[in-house]
Amino acid sequence: MKITPFPHPVYITRPILPRLDILNERLSRIWQLKCLTNYGEQHKALESGLQEHLKVPYLSLFNNGTVALLVALRALGLSQEVITTPFTFPATPHVLAWSGIAPVFCDIDARSMNIDVEKIESMITPRTTGILAVHVFGLPCNVEGIKKIADRHGLKVIYDAAHAFGTEISGKGIGGFGDVTMFSFHATKLFHTAEGGALSVAEDGLKNQIDLLRNFGIRGEEAVLIPGINGKMNEIQAALGLAVLDCIEAEKENRKILRDIYVSRLKDIPGIHLMEDPPKVKPNYSYFVIRISERDYGLSRDDVYRRFREYNVFARKYFYPLGSNYPCYRTLPSSDPVCLPVANRVAKEVLCLPFYGELDPGSVNKICDILMGMKR
Ligand SMILES: *Cc1c(COP(=O)(O)O)cnc(C)c1O
Repeated sequence: MKITPFPHPVYITRPILPRLDILNERLSRIWQLKCLTNYGEQHKALESGLQEHLKVPYLSLFNNGTVALLVALRALGLSQEVITTPFTFPATPHVLAWSGIAPVFCDIDARSMNIDVEKIESMITPRTTGILAVHVFGLPCNVEGIKKIADRHGLKVIYDAAHAFGTEISGKGIGGFGDVTMFSFHATKLFHTAEGGALSVAEDGLKNQIDLLRNFGIRGEEAVLIPGINGKMNEIQAALGLAVLDCIEAEKENRKILRDIYVSRLKDIPGIHLMEDPPKVKPNYSYFVIRISERDYGLSRDDVYRRFREYNVFARKYFYPLGSNYPCYRTLPSSDPVCLPVANRVAKEVLCLPFYGELDPGSVNKICDILMGMKR
């Protein structure tokens, strides 16, 4: 049977859009108070609501995840060299470059696609000040392994948890590991405030420093203590976030149903590899990721990506190109593909498929049909 293309483009995600009447109630309240930013009522409610939801000791909201990461680097005083992963979104290496820090790319683990703990130590030099690791696709890094290395060498650890909203390890929030964890609330993420982000930390001294940096270094009405930046989340973003937070559990339930369909249809196809949830990890259903081995499947990831587009399916090659292959980082010693064999292979295999609560099960089945039909 010939499969017809979808009548409309099917994207990999769609933002959660709460009911407008619910958002409007919050907006009316903002209008009434005439407080649009600088830590109003909505901001306070979202900060404490998320702190509880994410099970973290301290949380600070930001206007986006990238500024949050810049502030994290500054608050921890990182400089010179920081070890990171090439398999990530551009923001991760870019915040290092913007802070005058050289990114040092470490290869990734073939299974988790996160930074390879076995290889970190060989990248440490006298100039290394920290590790910036990413919980790729919402599944955790080897946090215990990273902690051991960091403790042994006196390094700070920052986690980019842009994908990991709500992920837990043995009941502990993902934001409770390392010195600082960043969350992104961009519209494409599971939880969002249109644009937004947060940092979680374990101690109040560090939270105070982060909050000072977030608002120009201003303390009180007549003191400016340090060169801070404007990282504040405004009341409208926070109101949207509160409305979206109420939709999160239902969104995850819908995504779980869709994931089960994808898994049951795709798990036995030679050359298509699915991600498995590691033991003790509560997944967050942020992405549905497949890896295509050209040798075993017969088509390359790029072939599959192109064929999907003929059916109006807009899958995404996250993360391609690798950070180490951008023109601005390609000449760094650690960017040599010979030193990053796993990352360079994985970046050619990964494809994210459409995955969001409003996608109907019929469409997921059709996407699987299209994928299976490509080989004929
Ligand atoms: C989205 C994302 C960011 C950047 O977050 P913004 O809120 O868009 O600034 C950083 N790292 C990763 C891995 C991301 O996916």
